Amino acid sequence: MVTGCLGARKDEIIELHPNVLGVTGPHAYDEVLTQVHKHVTKPVHNPFIDLVPPQGVKLTPKHYAYLKISEGCNHRCTFCIIPSMRGDLDSRPVGDVLGEAQRLVKAGVKELLVISQDTSAYGVDVKHKTDFWDGMPVKTHMQQLCEELAKQGVWIRLHYVYPYPHVDKIIPLMAAGKILPYLDIPFQHANKRILKLMKRPGSSDRVLERIAKWREICPELVIRSTFIVGFPGETEEEFEELLNFLEEAQLDRVGCFKYSPVTGAKANDLPDHVSDDVMEERLQRFMAVQAKISSEKLQARIGQEYLILVDEVNSLGIVGRSYMDAPEVDGKVYLSDDFDANPGDLIWVQIIHADEHDVWGVRVEDEEA
Ligand code: SF4
Repeated sequence: MVTGCLGARKDEIIELHPNVLGVTGPHAYDEVLTQVHKHVTKPVHNPFIDLVPPQGVKLTPKHYAYLKISEGCNHRCTFCIIPSMRGDLDSRPVGDVLGEAQRLVKAGVKELLVISQDTSAYGVDVKHKTDFWDGMPVKTHMQQLCEELAKQGVWIRLHYVYPYPHVDKIIPLMAAGKILPYLDIPFQHANKRILKLMKRPGSSDRVLERIAKWREICPELVIRSTFIVGFPGETEEEFEELLNFLEEAQLDRVGCFKYSPVTGAKANDLPDHVSDDVMEERLQRFMAVQAKISSEKLQARIGQEYLILVDEVNSLGIVGRSYMDAPEVDGKVYLSDDFDANPGDLIWVQIIHADEHDVWGVRVEDEEA
């Protein structure tokens, strides 16, 4: 079975993989089940195995979960084909999102990762209409959503945030410890001309000012971002501007990709494509600059104490993450030869060693004990 965005290209999938039993688009839950039942006989009702827990079935470990707040996107970035496959922004009712969050927390989730294609646009499509949660009116808006999620008493981490002006209002929530001081903002580039060709909003000057202001309000803020090098037409000077931006912005976590001409993306029609050799060379230079920044930032953490969410305990010890690390994409915190914890536990750790990606620590007494 194939399901998700690429389901929009059913013919191509079947041509490449003739043995695929069924193809559906994203969020086609009923269709997936129909397809499955075409090939697997539906079992006779059994109350023991048919019972689905109230929080639903999720694929992440028990202690963290992704909370999808909307689908689709109103932007038209020229390197991206998501809007053509998933459509315009379609925000979930805030009451539904908060209900799901509560069910997940009751089921043992300690960290909720808010995701969408554009988290800061949440509710724009429904004009931020008021919905109800727990008998109280709540606006379909990023700020109100964050305020309500904060009441769940677990880690709330925001992904895919555009630096719109109203994001400024989220920073005090982070400074007050209500949601994690962590922002995942895909900047993609820093040069004005390239950003315009990408159809991305914002200029790097204003972004730098913004970041400085956010850090004044919330000094512990960690910013993660992603960038594209070798976008069609990117000159050496424009690439160097990106490197200078990196030096100035001092971002904590950064991913970088070479431009990839996804079939159907408008950017493929732009002139002056960058050769793969040049893209590779730029990627290496980019990563070298960021590796130094990341390494210095993590070295500065040595000696400090952080609350760690334990992800696993293996034969070498405990592996966890601090507020600075989202699962799968960021670094980890290792506690060698310490096995006294379970996934989902929160423990205080002092950092004793760091490389450019991960840190190592030892357990310290609970600060609140
Ligand atoms: S890159 Fe992100 S913001 Fe841009 S069109 Fe694609 S999904 Fe939307």
